[in-house]
Amino acid sequence: MTTPRTIPFGRPWIDESDRKSVMEVLDGHILTHGPQCKSFEEEFASFVGETAKCVTVSSCMAALHVAYLELRIGPGDEVLVPALTHAATVHAVEWVGARPIFIDCDKATGNMRPDAMAEAITPKTKAVGLVHFAGIPCDMPRIMEIADAHKLKVIEDCALAVGSRYARKHVALFGDAGCFSFYPVKHITTGEGGMFVSKSADAVESVNKLRAFGVDRTYAQRSIPGYYDVPSLGLNYRMSEMQAALGRSQLARFPENLRIRRSNFQSLKEKLARALGTRILDSAKPEVENSYYCMCVVLEGKLGPLRNEVISRLNAAGIGTSIYYPQPVPRMTYYREKYGYQPDDFPNAEEITDHSIALPVGPHLNSEDMEYIGEIFSSTVQELGK
Ligand SMILES: *Cc1c(COP(=O)(O)O)cnc(C)c1O
Repeated sequence: MTTPRTIPFGRPWIDESDRKSVMEVLDGHILTHGPQCKSFEEEFASFVGETAKCVTVSSCMAALHVAYLELRIGPGDEVLVPALTHAATVHAVEWVGARPIFIDCDKATGNMRPDAMAEAITPKTKAVGLVHFAGIPCDMPRIMEIADAHKLKVIEDCALAVGSRYARKHVALFGDAGCFSFYPVKHITTGEGGMFVSKSADAVESVNKLRAFGVDRTYAQRSIPGYYDVPSLGLNYRMSEMQAALGRSQLARFPENLRIRRSNFQSLKEKLARALGTRILDSAKPEVENSYYCMCVVLEGKLGPLRNEVISRLNAAGIGTSIYYPQPVPRMTYYREKYGYQPDDFPNAEEITDHSIALPVGPHLNSEDMEYIGEIFSSTVQELGK
């Protein structure tokens, strides 16, 4: 028997430079509306790519909400969304009063199926709110072709997709808006936090106002201190300076973070290749670059219904796991009660939520950890699959 280990599913990677960055902000006197947010926005934009413009916000949910507000999607409109995603992807549609239309996913990647998406378009469809499932990029050329043909807006939920690229282009740059999350277990963290990304200067200007009460001028633009006007409705979705300082420091280490994730993922994938009755979700083409958020393993055949038993055994051996996502969103109580739900409506999404396990590959793990996970996982499924 191998020596037991304790491996959390996710753990924020905080080092001395992160602590120092936050303390420097606290040693000053500007805690919000300051230079850290501005620099984080510029640095994130140069990371994502030439055409990106960024606005820091308080979460990915906030970024998604302002994206729909800015695009003026609302009552009477339909938005195509994946059945397999975080509730936030769909809540944003609900908050602006539009109707989410759920679409099933692909079995190999977990991403929304473009053909099913095209079939669901009606004269009321105004937008597509997609998610890059666990950091595996969607088929963006095909989705943009369909969206352009029907003049649909495209909102990309990139919460798990820092570093995900399709043909070298970072996700968030295909559609009208990209929304990122800096929640503690995501690729990089600011505690809570998010980023709104767009290629449109107008969209960014309007989100800048929306996230700050709809106020018409920044601190620097106020000739009389404290005087401003509010020409439009707004919210308070700002990020603080401490958070932005942490985000900048985390972003600077991101290449190293992604390198470790990729290497952990590849080594675990090799180890699980011989585990019968399992399927690993990943991008199938070399030009589609995964961000390696976690490894989703689907248990097939007679192993499928034993998913929770496999989870218990992994957890008992000290391996932290998660489920992406706990249920298809249309099956969650709020949506089921509002729109109804038929068990066979989204068979692929159901299979992934009910029969898959998310294994950790984050930078808190080393090659011995991956060795251990591979060994325990393989022997567990072998034993239960007999
Ligand atoms: C985590 C997550 C969110 C929510 O992010 P917050 O920053 O916590 O609001 C949204 N979408 C997806 C796909 C996520 O995984």
